[in-house]
Amino acid sequence: MRVDRVAILDWSTAGKPRVGKDSIWLGVADASGVIAENLPTRAQAEARLCALIDEAQADNEKLLIGVDFNLGFPAGFAKRLTGDARAAPVWEWLAARVTDGSDNAHNLPHVAAEANAAFAGQGPFWGNGRKEDVAGLPRTRPELPEGLSAARRTEIAATGPGSRPKSTWQLSGAGAVGAQGLMGMAMLHRLRLRYPEHLFVWPFEEANAPVTVAEVYPSMLSAECKALCASNPDMVTDEAQVRVLASALLNLSDTAELMDLREDAKLLVEEGWILGAGHQLALRRAVPAMQEPPRLRDDCFAMPQGVDWVPVDEALERLRIALKPITTQETCRIGDAAGGVLAADCFARRSNPPRPNSAVDGYGFAHAATSEGPQRLPLVDGRAAAGQPYDGTVPQGAAVRILTGAILPDGVDTVVLEEDTASDGAAVVFDGPVKPFSNTRKAGEDVMEDALALPAGHRLRAPDIALLSALGVAEVQTFRPLRVGVLSTGDEIIAAPHLPALPHQIWDANRPMLLTLARNWGYEAVDLGHATDDPEKIAARLSDGAKRADVILTSGGASAGDEDHVSALLRARGTLSSWRIALKPGRPLALALWEGTPVFGLPGNPVAALICALIFARPAFSLMAGAGWLNPQGFTVPAAFSKSKKPGRREYLRARLNADGAAEVFASEGSGRISGLSWADGLVELPDGAVQITPGTPVRYLPYSSLGLT
Ligand code: AMP
Ligand code: MG
Repeated sequence: MRVDRVAILDWSTAGKPRVGKDSIWLGVADASGVIAENLPTRAQAEARLCALIDEAQADNEKLLIGVDFNLGFPAGFAKRLTGDARAAPVWEWLAARVTDGSDNAHNLPHVAAEANAAFAGQGPFWGNGRKEDVAGLPRTRPELPEGLSAARRTEIAATGPGSRPKSTWQLSGAGAVGAQGLMGMAMLHRLRLRYPEHLFVWPFEEANAPVTVAEVYPSMLSAECKALCASNPDMVTDEAQVRVLASALLNLSDTAELMDLREDAKLLVEEGWILGAGHQLALRRAVPAMQEPPRLRDDCFAMPQGVDWVPVDEALERLRIALKPITTQETCRIGDAAGGVLAADCFARRSNPPRPNSAVDGYGFAHAATSEGPQRLPLVDGRAAAGQPYDGTVPQGAAVRILTGAILPDGVDTVVLEEDTASDGAAVVFDGPVKPFSNTRKAGEDVMEDALALPAGHRLRAPDIALLSALGVAEVQTFRPLRVGVLSTGDEIIAAPHLPALPHQIWDANRPMLLTLARNWGYEAVDLGHATDDPEKIAARLSDGAKRADVILTSGGASAGDEDHVSALLRARGTLSSWRIALKPGRPLALALWEGTPVFGLPGNPVAALICALIFARPAFSLMAGAGWLNPQGFTVPAAFSKSKKPGRREYLRARLNADGAAEVFASEGSGRISGLSWADGLVELPDGAVQITPGTPVRYLPYSSLGLT
């Protein structure tokens, strides 16, 4: 159902005209954007809805009106009140009784009392906010009449497990929503009378008219509303709700998914359904992005004047301070979240385990009835198994057959392992004493309900997916994966080895390496191809990258020489900071923003390019991806080589561990030796100062795996 306009009504039962918080708000979204109106009275709101319907009719447009009050009552109510198990006669019944003046004065408590009178006992409605008592309307929650449900099916689907829906039976007091429905349904009846052909109430009616009225539940988008309020401090929640919901529903209205119901038709015509209940994730995804993705400051890579050489640690610290997460966020199902980085803390929706259960197959009983020496406990009929709880109570002195994972039945606090028992089917015998609670798991012993399960910034791996699933976390807020663009430069470079290369030409080794590296790190790799040393061509590729990627890695031309076209271009047209880092191999790192996108200009030598990427780009990208700064996890091993290192530059040697766990290094330190990168399993990191290394000297070894190379 594609609609042209969505109006969301946030209703109020105020007894006087009122504006601002907790008053009536109407949000209207269409192709021209979204506006919100604050209406002081219900009569004005009704007139406004009529005007919107008239307009839709005149322009031959489809209008969806979402109202935040219930359009039906829990099963059992309608039949009792009107003799008809459908909602429509209830609307009529209410419209005949509710009086609602242009000053917002209304008679609701009396109407509710009259409805209560249709039931044996006190009736379902309760709560009276007025001073004077109203006969037939209890002030506190009465016993619910036989055959009536406490909540509608859709309310449970809308709130999800864990939170309890607000009761439509409660008319006043904290969290009361019942009065809204009673007054709203009376208005709905008037609208239906006025527009008999043009208006249809979903899902109660089959017709397909230009104007649809449906129930909505703004709390399904509470996180999005909170975010909107946070960036607009003057906006009240009600306004944020109608704005966010109207624009989300407009976006989503052309998907059949939203109105796809697999519910019992009879239940639907009586209780109705909340639009979007059961499709919360789709609804949340339809909320238009409210924020611009975060941007880095133009001068974030600037080096203070006069700084010539920077030690590695200082360069890293400068990057850590300059950068921040730059990707936007999304909501995704837990099953699709592997590899994603949490953008918000995740809390347990339920304890794990939810109830005490058995850790073994055996027999369960009350510990208090056992003692030392041989024990014989008669068995009760039945058994407790995982997914098949034992419903009864096990009397003290008796035992029940219990299997791993089964909830401990009432009367059971201890389990004896099957292998330690004998049984003839009538009783179980074993040797006492048995420790109280043995072989049982406490409720929440793993994680307690509401406890922090995983913090924001955590990258989700298989065990994390298991943990969050076990805790009932159905969806998570994650950062969208960082998109890493990779560009190679150089006149001598041939893009790929299936193309011919003359003797003065070389095949591009850096780009496939860096694209693979980006994927290894969990990012989306964006191939920006190869550009010859032509400023215009490089500029075009960078601009393409600025659109398609969040960050760009280039290789080649990064120094300050005649042929260093990347740094020349970035100096001329970007915001270049050329960092001369006291590092071997490596040295120049060209850092810049190109059209707002950070560019890491790596040296062209594959060895230097890889080492600079591992040492600088890896922690920097992790920070920009939302997962926080990363320090490589190295460990100390004995050297299996000799070297006399001069002071001044930190050095990384291509290395691997020999059979004795000592680090051997690649025979040549030449920075063009790609075979050495492939030969190695990691790097040996030598400190900035001078060192004298002989076999056995402790050195720091960084395995490739600790640098995210897999
Ligand atoms: P540059 O940083 O442009 O001066 O290049 C340094 C060295 O790295 C030169 O020998 C280049 O040919 C080589 N080189 C540059 N880019 C690549 C690449 N993508 N693949 C392999 N070697 C490269
Ligand atoms: Mg070059």
